[in-house]
Amino acid sequence: MRYSGFRVLKEALTGHKGWQPVWRDPEPQAEYDFVIVGGGGHGLATAYYLAKEFRQSRIAVLEKGWIGGGNVGRNTTIIRSNYLLEGNQPFYEFSLKLWEGLEQDFNYNAMVSQRGILNLFHSDAQRDAYIRRGNAMILHGADAELLSPAQVRRAYPFLDFDNARFPIKGGLAQRRGGTVRHDAVAWGYARGADRRGVDILQNCEVTGFRIAQGRCLGVETSRGFIGAGKVGVAVAGYSSHVMAMAGLRLPIESHVLQAFVSEGLKPVLPGVITFGAGHFYCSQSDKGGLVFGGDIDGYNSYAQRGNLPVIEDVVEGGMALFPGLGRARLLRMWGGVMDMSMDGSPIIDRTDIDGLYFNGGWCYGGFKATPASGWCFAHLLATDAPHATAVAYRFDRFRRGAMIDEKGVGAQPNLH
Ligand SMILES: Cc1cc2nc3c(=O)[nH]c(=O)nc-3n(C[C@H](O)[C@H](O)[C@H](O)COP(=O)(O)OP(=O)(O)OC[C@H]3O[C@@H](n4cnc5c(N)ncnc54)[C@H](O)[C@@H]3O)c2cc1C
Repeated sequence: MRYSGFRVLKEALTGHKGWQPVWRDPEPQAEYDFVIVGGGGHGLATAYYLAKEFRQSRIAVLEKGWIGGGNVGRNTTIIRSNYLLEGNQPFYEFSLKLWEGLEQDFNYNAMVSQRGILNLFHSDAQRDAYIRRGNAMILHGADAELLSPAQVRRAYPFLDFDNARFPIKGGLAQRRGGTVRHDAVAWGYARGADRRGVDILQNCEVTGFRIAQGRCLGVETSRGFIGAGKVGVAVAGYSSHVMAMAGLRLPIESHVLQAFVSEGLKPVLPGVITFGAGHFYCSQSDKGGLVFGGDIDGYNSYAQRGNLPVIEDVVEGGMALFPGLGRARLLRMWGGVMDMSMDGSPIIDRTDIDGLYFNGGWCYGGFKATPASGWCFAHLLATDAPHATAVAYRFDRFRRGAMIDEKGVGAQPNLH
């Protein structure tokens, strides 16, 4: 079924009896050409592009819980491509371009909203760093614009300009950045993949890999053994845990990241803003809630909830920038398990085991990467060669010391 304005009208006039389930609930087959482990944004996008762009068939996505239950449905929904480094900028710009055409591509309303993102700066040195970042973005074909304090004040008059501990000296804007309704991304990719014959198997946990003579033959699951020509793992926060079942140790740690939503308010925040003197970012959802977050909880955990010290830290950052936030009531909060790599950048690569491929290490920036990550992982699975924008995302960069350390803070996941 294709969605359209005409279809909505027809269903409204005929009692909404024609809508069909958005994806099937098939039984697992004994074998597939491609098995993708993890039904988050990245796994679903991989299956979608494998079928659509690389014309592959006999594909299954195995999800231990339900579609959208992981980080894809837990993030703060920000998309952008305001990266500095050679290894990152082309990839994230590729992703932003895919976001721009995504809804037409998979015929699903994911509420892609290019409302802009503004990184505020608070010192001369920070301004210089942001100018450099903006220039790198422009050189790679992305958009970037430096705003003066007066321009920032016009767009966000309620920020604390006059009494602030860290005065706002301007901002680096990317007007094509913005937000996307996160769970609709999972549903849109799931629907698009299902329509192209991909089996989406929910409640199907991978519990082991069958490996013989250095080759992965398939996966053991809670629903029995499933044979596979190639297995692609995209399980985000569970990366270390799942790859350990294949005997592989990753340069990745799992940490909790929390998100917060206030009660619904009248429109106050036109775009996404980030605080430059602490870790705080905020946007306003279409329902009116202020959606905000900050640092990861600085300890390893697989719990999808966090602790009070980080809440205090995030709220302090918010209040320093935006004192009016103190008048809003918090509606809800939650956590997600992040796959923090040692340099803050991801990995999309083959492993030393034939037929076993890995996608992970997205830290807390993997939502914006979803389309490009899916496309590049599908490219790797289908052709055995890395996509041009993902050549830097290889395991061997850790052996070679060729880190893609966007923040320049070294191998410290709590700082990325
Ligand atoms: C609070 C928060 C805020 C964030 N904000 C942003 C943001 O604003 N912008 C941004 O770009 N990124 C953001 N992120 C990061 C982003 O959400 C993640 O990097 C990205 O969603 C990870 O990829 P995914 O969607 O595939 O992960 P997930 O949705 O977590 O998918 C992984 C799936 O694998 C499944 N799985 C695990 N183990 C197994 C197994 N053994 N067998 C089968 N399935 C298994 C899990 O159940 C899960 O559904 C945020 C994350 C959080 C938690």
